[in-house]
Amino acid sequence: MPANEAERLVALAETQLLDSEHEAVFDAIVALAASICGVPMAAITLIDRDRQWFKASVGIDDPETPREDAFCAHTILEPTPLEVDDATADERFRNNPFVLGDAHVRFYAGMPLVTGSGHALGALCVIDRAPRQLDATQRESLRHLTTVVERLIDARTESLRQQKLVRDSEERVARSRDFIRKITDAMPALILYLDGNRDVRFANADVGRRFGVDAASLLGRGFAEICGAELYAEIESRLSRAFAGESVSFEGSRVVRDQFYYYRTHYVPDVTANGGVQGVFALSFDITAQKQAEISAQTAERRLQLIADNIPAAVSIIDPEHVYRFNNAAYERAIGKPLAEITGRPVREILGEQVYAQVLPHLDRALAGHGTQFELRQHRADGPRFLRGSYQPKCADDGTVVGVFGMILDQTELKQAEDQLRVMAEFDALTRLANRYRLYDTIAGSAARAQRHGAARALLYLDVDKFKAINDRHGHAGGDAVLVEFARRLKAATRATDTVARLAGDEFVVLLEDVREVGDAERVAEAILAAMRRPVRYIDTDIAVGTSIGIAFNTDPGEEADAWLHRADGALYAAKSAGRGSYRVAA
Ligand code: GH3
Ligand code: MG
Repeated sequence: MPANEAERLVALAETQLLDSEHEAVFDAIVALAASICGVPMAAITLIDRDRQWFKASVGIDDPETPREDAFCAHTILEPTPLEVDDATADERFRNNPFVLGDAHVRFYAGMPLVTGSGHALGALCVIDRAPRQLDATQRESLRHLTTVVERLIDARTESLRQQKLVRDSEERVARSRDFIRKITDAMPALILYLDGNRDVRFANADVGRRFGVDAASLLGRGFAEICGAELYAEIESRLSRAFAGESVSFEGSRVVRDQFYYYRTHYVPDVTANGGVQGVFALSFDITAQKQAEISAQTAERRLQLIADNIPAAVSIIDPEHVYRFNNAAYERAIGKPLAEITGRPVREILGEQVYAQVLPHLDRALAGHGTQFELRQHRADGPRFLRGSYQPKCADDGTVVGVFGMILDQTELKQAEDQLRVMAEFDALTRLANRYRLYDTIAGSAARAQRHGAARALLYLDVDKFKAINDRHGHAGGDAVLVEFARRLKAATRATDTVARLAGDEFVVLLEDVREVGDAERVAEAILAAMRRPVRYIDTDIAVGTSIGIAFNTDPGEEADAWLHRADGALYAAKSAGRGSYRVAA
């Protein structure tokens, strides 16, 4: 057995010669060998594990023989030829069945077939039934033929090896193509590769679905033809830019088989090492869901904006750094600037120091998580504004305060209406003096003040003398003019801290606070009587006006207003009775 038998058998198997068909070239070589050597038998043998197999032979019928009987099994043990001139005289072959049997082998010459693997796989041998010897030419020719056989086997082995390499790499390519296909088919996108002729070289399953065909059927077809004229015209210029080396992205919408969808497409040039474009990758994503969400968010935002803009209040969102993040249209009117110059700016800058100082504590309170309501005064060129504000914390899902919802209502008009109502409720419409209700309020307040200061008070109860006659002579309007002037003179004759009220008709009351003695009240009464001595000018006539006055002095803060007024009224009655145009002091 050769030393490296296992490796030799592997090298033999690699040739794939064992049990192969007859091949003319090998047949020719053995025929040539037999003829050159002038022998009846020649063969190309291969020594397998247990047998000798004939790749080609002449004069031998068996396709194979047991290895143990094979002369060639001996030949492969040495690199040199084995020549047996007379087998009957050779210890190794004397009892060989081919020597003893019908084959009658006497002469054998075998050249080992050593291939590129370095192993002797078999032998080229010539055999005769009579003892003999090869001459030098025959031996030389056999050696040449052996070389031919060896190189034939090598060429064959190499070719098999090449074929296997090709097969392996084809398999690898197929596997990686499958892998790419698996990945790309699983991707929610259309993936295409177009070669330089704009023919489809690759298309994933989505491309097939989009065009309603099997993706494989698109391979090798022109992209223009697949798209159809209309679609191709739409994308042609972008595709050309990609083929010119530019990455191109664009969005659009389209109806495909009654289905409306939005897409985003990317064309990426496939650039070779030397900078040329050999193809274009095309990727297209269906962004319908995303787009629709965007659109509905925009619609919702527009709707909210519309609502916010139509609320008769200034609505804002303020972030924790006191910067406006949202403002409705009311801010434009209130601040007098376009929204673009308000939103994104600090509250301090927009409202000004004075108003900012007023809202700051409320802003901080809302940012600390507490809703707050407050009133604001703003001084503007067109007059003071009365504002009512509300700050509510704006919380994230986890409850942290991320800003403030602000709402500020301009209540100036409301406030003015309120003020007017109050005036109407407390003041006399004709003379603008306090009315009966306000007088009673003032009397009540004066009692507390008198108590505090320990001062006395006095009431002057006045009634215009013969007022009916004035009405009769000058008409109601004339009477009114007299009442207005009467009121004005009353005011003029008293101190600002005194209260002048019109009780009803031609009756008036003056409340004097902080008087020391009756004489103080009497002096006021005299001043009033003096003031009324001048006639009242009405249109182009002078109307004489007189009045009677009843004085009720008061040192008791506990006296009821009605009782006190009653005393003054009593004194007035006394003054009237005494002939009018004078005053009397109640007891
Ligand atoms: P006397 O000296 O006794 O007070 O006589 P007089 O005419 O003033 O009588 P009296 O005080 O009783 O009359 C008040 C009149 O004032 C009665 C009413 O017609 C008139 N009067 C009441 N309210 C108004 C008003 O708002 N405007 C005008 N022009 N007249 C009024
Ligand atoms: Mg009167």
